[in-house]
Amino acid sequence: MAEKLTLDPQGKLVVPKDVVLPYIEGDGTGVDIWPAAQHVFDAALKKHGQRVSWKEVLAGEKAYRETGEWLPEATIEAFREYRVGIKGPLTTPVGGGIRSLNVAIRQIMDLYVCLRPVRWFQGVPSPVRHPELVDMVIFRENTEDVYAGLEVAEGTPEAAKLREFLHDNFGWEIRSDSGIGIKPISKTGSQRLIRAALEYALAHHRRSVTLVHKGNIQKFTEGAFRSWGYELVKEEFSDRAVSWEECHGDPGDRLLVKDAIADNALQQVLTRADEFDVIATMNLNGDYLSDALAAQVGGIGIAPGGNINYVTGHGVFEATHGTAPKYAGLDKVNPGSVILSGVMMFEYLGLQDVADDITRALEETIAARIVTYDFARLMEGATEVSCSEFGHAIAERI
Ligand code: NAP
Repeated sequence: MAEKLTLDPQGKLVVPKDVVLPYIEGDGTGVDIWPAAQHVFDAALKKHGQRVSWKEVLAGEKAYRETGEWLPEATIEAFREYRVGIKGPLTTPVGGGIRSLNVAIRQIMDLYVCLRPVRWFQGVPSPVRHPELVDMVIFRENTEDVYAGLEVAEGTPEAAKLREFLHDNFGWEIRSDSGIGIKPISKTGSQRLIRAALEYALAHHRRSVTLVHKGNIQKFTEGAFRSWGYELVKEEFSDRAVSWEECHGDPGDRLLVKDAIADNALQQVLTRADEFDVIATMNLNGDYLSDALAAQVGGIGIAPGGNINYVTGHGVFEATHGTAPKYAGLDKVNPGSVILSGVMMFEYLGLQDVADDITRALEETIAARIVTYDFARLMEGATEVSCSEFGHAIAERI
């Protein structure tokens, strides 16, 4: 009988042989990519004697049609109860009460890490000469920064009140026709994110963690993020990691923790990709970096993501692209993003053999130049296949 994931007393996830995992099919092309991905997942799970009882939960347009709500409470409850799940892309309702369903899920469940691994797959067309040098894992903070939704619109009484308060209490002059946003960066939020990045880097035998920030300008938010990071290294990781400033020469077998100013980091990930490994950064920088890096390896269509709370064990893994509505139901688009998000999910669950087999089979399929339209248009001698055929080609190689 299918069972739930549990946490052992050490806080480690325990995966039963037949585990229930919730999934959101997703809007638009979700109807295409989810079945293709599930076919691949089930093939790999079967090979390794593991079963997943997939439990559909609703969000987005399908939820709205069936329940009148964009994000039913039952869906959040299912992700809470079953701890780990996966989702396709969701339409952001225009003019609805929710700014973004994806942001809402992250915030409601306090999934404070947005994990975005970026690497190149052989054969994928890339705009750079050495895409193989990119093998980075981005830890993007998911709950703070200018993404916290603390904004007032230009011309509103709220904006006038806030301007007046800032003028009277701080002597700050803000133009009267301004919209105003607030950027909170806390020590708690920064350190739990950086802690997760350090633990990950150590567990995966990575060489370094780079804290990316704009602390030269935004001293008390982004600058503080950097300082709190180095403080954490000293207080909790001094036996296993060393900061750049304290490492004179070779860090030995300790993990090296360094930092880079965001604009410089965006140049250097291009020009010196091999110097970056795990990256920890705040919400907005992380947003730019994740997509810029995904583009660098030609993988924007297949970039995976995961939203995780390492304390509670909750995780929602997701395709990072949108719903691509013009292709919905055409069995055309690339299911790679949701498939690789599944790989991340299986790794997170400790099902490494399942994850490795899917990655290998995907690599072999692309190397054989069997690809969907998006890669086919950029590759010479490619065999263009449909979304479902691509899934079958991967499953066959498993
Ligand atoms: P989009 O859906 O990502 O589509 C933009 C373009 O990206 C598509 O036209 C297509 O390019 C390419 N693309 C997207 N998915 C692909 C796939 N699986 N395989 C191959 N190519 C793919 O972005 P959008 O049009 O800006 O947004 C549409 C809706 O998605 C909006 O409602 C937005 O809010 C939502 N959205 C959701 C998420 C999420 O759920 N995580 C993320 C972003 C956007 P070509 O036309 O060149 O083939």
